[in-house]
Amino acid sequence: MLSFRNINGIAITLLAVFVTIKLAYNALPWWIPGILGLLWLVITIIGSFHMRWDYHLKSLHNNKDVFENHVSLTFDDGPNPEFTSKVLTLLKKYNAHATFFCIGKHAKAYPEIVKEIIAHGHTIGNHTYSHSNWLGFFGTTKVLSELQKTNAIVLDITGKHLRLFRPAFGVTNPNIRKALQKTGLYSIGWSIRSFDTTMRSANTIRDNVLGKISKGDIVLFHDSSEKTMVVLERLLLFLKEQKLQSVTVDRLLQIKAYA
Ligand SMILES: [Zn+2]
Repeated sequence: MLSFRNINGIAITLLAVFVTIKLAYNALPWWIPGILGLLWLVITIIGSFHMRWDYHLKSLHNNKDVFENHVSLTFDDGPNPEFTSKVLTLLKKYNAHATFFCIGKHAKAYPEIVKEIIAHGHTIGNHTYSHSNWLGFFGTTKVLSELQKTNAIVLDITGKHLRLFRPAFGVTNPNIRKALQKTGLYSIGWSIRSFDTTMRSANTIRDNVLGKISKGDIVLFHDSSEKTMVVLERLLLFLKEQKLQSVTVDRLLQIKAYA
């Protein structure tokens, strides 16, 4: 399996072999460790941005073994004063349940929306406090603080101890892995990315999700985008036609959402 640990092990072994041969026979050129180092860097950068690789840590991306016709819709980056309530109304209309990975500072700003999410029977997860663009460069202590601050805010609002976490931007690294180990949070990924915050048109997003979704999938949306609203109702109609039910991600994965 391609993991940070394995790649480091292979890199160190190859380096040791190179040094041994170099010292014994002075035979190999110096560009060889340079190329190896570059290869290590490229693999590690790609692995850090692709949660599906489970390169730094194990995330839960779907549950294809689920017995019932269940899928799970997830919404990141809220709560949002413009869109979250609209998402809740649509989900209610189609009797669907979902998971909202909330940014801590947004939860602090809009506690009533957080309560509304819980009141509608949906699940809340942690999506860091700041959702900083620099999160991938934060040390373990700072990442830990991001997670703990968000958990404390949601605990204060709802009385619930969050156990689910979705990495901001889907970025993982050794510091995030250590912070998750300390907090005992599950890392939740996705099997279908809607690309609803990109430049793609609503029709392209809809076709992408509808063309791929099947039992056991976890779909990534954002309750912070107008395009999501356009796509969501069409998707909920499609799920109804296909007799697929959206449930909270903890139910799909059969894990506990709260401690
Ligand atoms: Zn996000």
